[in-house]
Amino acid sequence: MPGPRFPGRLILATRGAVPRSVLEAIVAQVSRLFALEVSLPAHPLSIPGQQDAWQGSQLLANWVTSLLERLYGDFDAMSLAVVTDDITIPVMRYVLGQAQMGGRHAVISTARIGGGNLEERASKLAVHEVGHLFDLVHCEDPVCAMFAVVSMQELDRRTSLLCRYCTADLANARCLRNKD
Ligand SMILES: [Zn+2]
Ligand SMILES: [Zn+2]
Repeated sequence: MPGPRFPGRLILATRGAVPRSVLEAIVAQVSRLFALEVSLPAHPLSIPGQQDAWQGSQLLANWVTSLLERLYGDFDAMSLAVVTDDITIPVMRYVLGQAQMGGRHAVISTARIGGGNLEERASKLAVHEVGHLFDLVHCEDPVCAMFAVVSMQELDRRTSLLCRYCTADLANARCLRNKD
C-alpha cells in the first residue's frame, strides 16, 4: 500500500561549517528535480555528545534521521541534514548518505567528498537520498542519480539526473501517493 502523500517542501538542516555554495547547489538541484520548495538559510542542528548518537568518532546516520523526525515530524515537510561529520550505520565502515525508506528524513555527509567539486558531489548525494524519500530504489545505470556508489570515481561518474526508468518511477510514485 502506498504511504501518505509526499510533502511539497524540504527543510534543510546542517551541522558543522557547510559552505553556503554547497547548500545553494543542493537547493538548486533538489528543488528542480523533485519540485520541492527548499529554503535557505538551513536550520543548525545541535547533536549532543551523548553515547548513542555516535560510533567512535562517526555519527550514526539513523540517529540523525530519527532526530530530524523528532524535530520536523509535525511539519508537512521532508528534511535533509547536511553534516560535516563522518557518518555510518552499524554494519558499514561508513556511508555517504542515508534515507528513511518510506519516510521523510535523510542525511548526507561531506566528510569524504572533499578534494573535488564539493558543490557537485554534495548535490549528487542529496538528489540520491531525496530520491529514496520519493520511494526510488537503486538503479543499475552508473550515470543515474540512483546508482549506489562506494568510491569517489563512481560518485564523479554518477550525475544528478534520473535515468528514464527512474524518472518514470518517480512519476508513478507521485501518482500513487498523491491521489486522494
Ligand atoms: Zn541509496
Ligand atoms: Zn535510474
